[in-house]
Amino acid sequence: MRAIQVTEVGGPEAMKLVEVDRPEPGDGEVVIDIAATGVNFIDTYQRGGLYPMDLPLTPGPECAGTIAAVGAGVSDFAVGDRVAVAASSGSYAEARVAPASQCVGLPDDLSFELAAAALLQGMTAHYLAFDTYALADGDRCLIHAGAGGTGRLLIQLAKSVGAEVFTTVGTAAKGEIAASAGADHVINYAEKNFADEVRRIAGTETPLDVVYDGVGAAVFDDSLTLIGKRGLMATFGNASGPVPPIAPLALSRAGSLFLTRPTLFDYVATREALVARATDVFDRIANGSLEVTIGATYPLEDAAQAHHDLEARKTTGKLLLVP
Ligand code: NDP
Repeated sequence: MRAIQVTEVGGPEAMKLVEVDRPEPGDGEVVIDIAATGVNFIDTYQRGGLYPMDLPLTPGPECAGTIAAVGAGVSDFAVGDRVAVAASSGSYAEARVAPASQCVGLPDDLSFELAAAALLQGMTAHYLAFDTYALADGDRCLIHAGAGGTGRLLIQLAKSVGAEVFTTVGTAAKGEIAASAGADHVINYAEKNFADEVRRIAGTETPLDVVYDGVGAAVFDDSLTLIGKRGLMATFGNASGPVPPIAPLALSRAGSLFLTRPTLFDYVATREALVARATDVFDRIANGSLEVTIGATYPLEDAAQAHHDLEARKTTGKLLLVP
C-alpha cells in the first residue's frame, strides 16, 4: 500500500511517498482502511522533530475510514464498522493500525471527510471552551488564529455559551471567515498591534478572562498583558514557535494569573471521556450548531504541499488528505 514516510526529520520535503506492507493488527488493535486523513499543525511538529517520534514515521494522528481487520481481544468493533481516530501517528497512508480503545464509531449520516475534519480539532475546541476554562455567558476571551481549523470551531463553541469573542487573523479575507463563525471583534494582527486593539475596543487595560493561544511565541507576551486578575492563559500550540520559559513571578505581577499548557490527549484520557466528547462534537455538527469548514483537500502524494501551505499561513479551516 502507499504511505508517506519520514526517515529523517526536516521540512515538508522530508515526507516521501513509499510502498509499504499493509499493517496487521496486534492485540487490542484494529486496521483502518483510510477514506480521509485530517491534516493538523501537530503533524508538522511530528515531521520536523519538535515532537520527537520514532523513525521511520508515517505522520498524522487523525483519519476516518472502515475497519478492515481486528486483533485479538477487540470486542467494541468489527470489520466493516465506520470509525475515526485521533491518536499517535500513521494516518498519512492508505491504511493504519490503531488501538481499538482510541477509535470512535461514526454516525451513519456523518461523512468520512467531515469526521476526519472534525474529530481532533473539534474535541480540542470542545475541551478548551468547556473544561480548560468553562466559558460562560458574558466572559471575554481572545482566540488567536480565528480562521484556522481549531480557531474557527472554538469561536463557535465560545459563542454558543454567550461569551464575547475577540479573535486575531493574518489577512482581511481570514477576518471574514472568523467573523462568519460569530466572532464579535476581529483583529488583523498583521496590520495592528492586537493587544492595543483589544484594549481600545474593550475600553479597559485587562479586559479578558481567558486567552486561547495556539500561535505561541509571537503572541504570548502581549496576550498576558490583556488578562484580568486571576484569569487564565491557555497556551495550546506553537504555530509561530514554542513559547520560551516564563518566570512564575511574571504571572504574579500580571495579576495572579493561571497558566496552562493543555493537550487533547489528557482531556480524552479514558474511553468514557473520549466517546462523550466525540459524541457531543458529532451531535453539534448533526444539529447544525457547529459548522466544520474544509478549506482544502489534497491527494496523499501532495502531503508536502499541504504542510507548505499550512506553515505558510495560506490555509483556512481544515485540510484533508485523500489516499
Ligand atoms: P490552523 O489551521 O489554526 O493553522 C495555524 C494558523 O496559525 C495559521 O493559519 C495562521 O493563521 C496562524 N499563525 C500565526 N503565526 C504563524 C506562523 N508563524 N506560522 C504558521 N502559522 C501561524 O492549525 P490547527 O488548527 O491545526 O492548529 C492550531 C494550533 O493548535 C496549533 O498550534 C496546534 O499545534 C494547536 N493544537 C493543539 C492541540 C492541543 O491539544 N494542545 C490540539 C490541536 C491543535 P493567521 O495567518 O490568521 O495568523
